[in-house]
Amino acid sequence: MARLQGLVIAAHGRHYLIQAEIDGSQQKLHCVTRGKKSDVSVGDIVEFALTSKNQGVIEAITDRKTLLYRSDQYKSKMLAANLTQLLIVVATEPSFTDDLVSRALVAAESSGIKPHLILNKVDVTESLEKARQRVGLYAKLGYPVHEVSAKGDPEGTRSLLTKLMQGQSTILIGQSGMGKSSLINLLIPDAEIATREISAALDTGKHTTTFTRLYHMDENSYVIDSPGFQEFGLHHLSEGMLERAFPEFLPHLGNCKFYNCHHHAEPNCAILEAVKSGAISPMRHQMFEQLVHESQQTMGYKPH
Ligand code: GDP
Ligand code: ZN
Repeated sequence: MARLQGLVIAAHGRHYLIQAEIDGSQQKLHCVTRGKKSDVSVGDIVEFALTSKNQGVIEAITDRKTLLYRSDQYKSKMLAANLTQLLIVVATEPSFTDDLVSRALVAAESSGIKPHLILNKVDVTESLEKARQRVGLYAKLGYPVHEVSAKGDPEGTRSLLTKLMQGQSTILIGQSGMGKSSLINLLIPDAEIATREISAALDTGKHTTTFTRLYHMDENSYVIDSPGFQEFGLHHLSEGMLERAFPEFLPHLGNCKFYNCHHHAEPNCAILEAVKSGAISPMRHQMFEQLVHESQQTMGYKPH
């Protein structure tokens, strides 16, 4: 039987919902992987064989353009494939943490995905200036920042985000309380219905909403939502990969006295000198050191 090709729109264990064109119409099929393998990710384009009218078996995964990881017990696990951009949602209030923003930026940089910051709740004017100052650090590093208000200006927000997401495969992430669900509901009004359908199709159990799923905005644009997702998997990144994920480090790399400098306490370290002169923010350098530390800890981590 001829192999078919489809897009993975939801994943639950080794059960996947695939969207594919069959006999000229778009259909959703419940597919499984062979054996115990679950190396397929939402956003993957897969080849599969039909086993019944709306069920199939995944035979192959086509080459991924990008792959983003989430953290799972000191390991990096696949979160989504073939994304082109990452929208990091922060808000005027409650206050966001720079730690999460930097981790998201490193995840995007190391996977070749374009990150943007979305500053939500700009209608909360009391906290606006402070938040603008804080996101200003990331704007200075070259990351685009967009101001929106899901509640105060839903139409303006929808139109700005729809334009930004045109032709892209996007994932939205943010700490809880930033307004990520409000933004998703604005962009995908029937998100909740779609979730229930997917949940039923994959037999995930009555109230499961914690699986990653993909929503089409138009034929060439889709958004991936991963409810409850907080932490990116960065454990697999080496020190060399980490230093290149900080764009403000790039002009200084190669100028350290030692070619294998860890930018920790070495003499004549170009990165430490840039921190001293104010060219690199101490907070970002600390983040780099923290990530190197975590990666060293977990590379040797062996679960019992
Ligand atoms: P999530 O945890 O990131 O998914 O955040 P929610 O979308 O649940 O929003 C958290 C809270 O912020 C809710 O009470 C929303 O009504 C509120 N909220 C979301 N967007 C805005 C906004 O643009 N302005 C204001 N003032 N509140 C907002
Ligand atoms: Zn150095």
